[in-house]
Amino acid sequence: MNMNIGLIKGDGIGPEVVNEAVKVLEAVGKKYGHTFQYEDILMGGCSIDATGEPLTDEAVAVAKTKDAILQGSIGGNTQTSPWYKLPPNKRPEAGLLKIRKELGLFANLRPAYLYPELKEACPLKESVAEKGFDMMIMRELTGGLYFGERYTKEVEGKTVAVDTLVYSEDEIRRIAIKGFDIAMKRRKKVTLVDKANVLDSSRLWRETMIRLSKEYPEVELNHLYVDNCAMQLVRNPKQFDVIVTSNIFGDILSDEASMISGSIGMLASASLNSTKLGMYEPIHGSAPDIAGQGIANPLATILSVAMMLRYSLDESQAADAIEAAVAEVLKTTRTPDIWTEGMKKVSTTEMGDAVCALI
Ligand code: NAD
Repeated sequence: MNMNIGLIKGDGIGPEVVNEAVKVLEAVGKKYGHTFQYEDILMGGCSIDATGEPLTDEAVAVAKTKDAILQGSIGGNTQTSPWYKLPPNKRPEAGLLKIRKELGLFANLRPAYLYPELKEACPLKESVAEKGFDMMIMRELTGGLYFGERYTKEVEGKTVAVDTLVYSEDEIRRIAIKGFDIAMKRRKKVTLVDKANVLDSSRLWRETMIRLSKEYPEVELNHLYVDNCAMQLVRNPKQFDVIVTSNIFGDILSDEASMISGSIGMLASASLNSTKLGMYEPIHGSAPDIAGQGIANPLATILSVAMMLRYSLDESQAADAIEAAVAEVLKTTRTPDIWTEGMKKVSTTEMGDAVCALI
């Protein structure tokens, strides 16, 4: 199979980690008989420097022609970089919001998995960590509180700020379908996280999910209020398989889940639309503090490539091979962020090479 991949290398450590992920993609391509064509797409600070815009319309048009997009990370030091003196819609992150909107990427998938080899980095009690966990958080990405009408006004001499939280049944249904479909390929359990005791929009989420669940008789659907879910994630994370939730709840819970996984340099993510096209990226940022030093952990981006193979390119065998190689490499080899006594300490490129060698 021949596939066209857009590469958004971005800023900071972005190019360093994307280069390693491409190396790994080439290695699985060679093993399973796939070829990949790559085209660089400018987004973020590098695009501002080159074009004055964080993402041009031309770049969006190129992205739309691809089978999948691999993104490093964008942005700079928000205190010192001149990019952050620009108006908000001209800053690096505006490129990210634009591409999500233009490609209709409404479903954000964030797996959180505790590698047995990284248990010591897990901040949870040993008795909880030793049981391990393996969950997929599905966050609605293009609706809800972050996209509703907002304004600030003066009311009777006092300043009042208003944010609105809107969801339509269709918006809920399309991410719910993705959630159930993914659960069918995993342990067949979906947890809807909401605040249905308070919010009307949450009650619509519940009704819609319950209705849809009739089409997935094999999947167990249960419900949790968001405050309870935040507690359960640290008390008993093993109970979760697929969590489906709204934009703001998913934003917060997926960060909590990444924290209990031990290292920000290990976690991948995918953002999908209703076609096969998706954008794949590590959850970490551009880490300007370590950019250019050759010490960034490329595994999150390498695992993003595995997600790309699984969800956009239907190549689960190649995805499994990458995930297995990452699990194996961790037994002996670590970048400085996850290094422990007795392990071989390696650079970004050496880690990429080590994963390739195991593939
Ligand atoms: P960050 O994730 O870049 O870094 C947080 C800490 O984790 C830093 O100490 C960094 O060195 C470390 N770290 C991150 N990734 C690592 C890796 N792969 N290997 C080893 N260590 C790693 O978060 P930040 O410092 O808050 O943000 C920096 C910039 O990234 C900001 O401009 C922010 O807006 C941007 N950002 C972009 C994205 C994205 O592109 N989707 C996501 C998050 C943050």
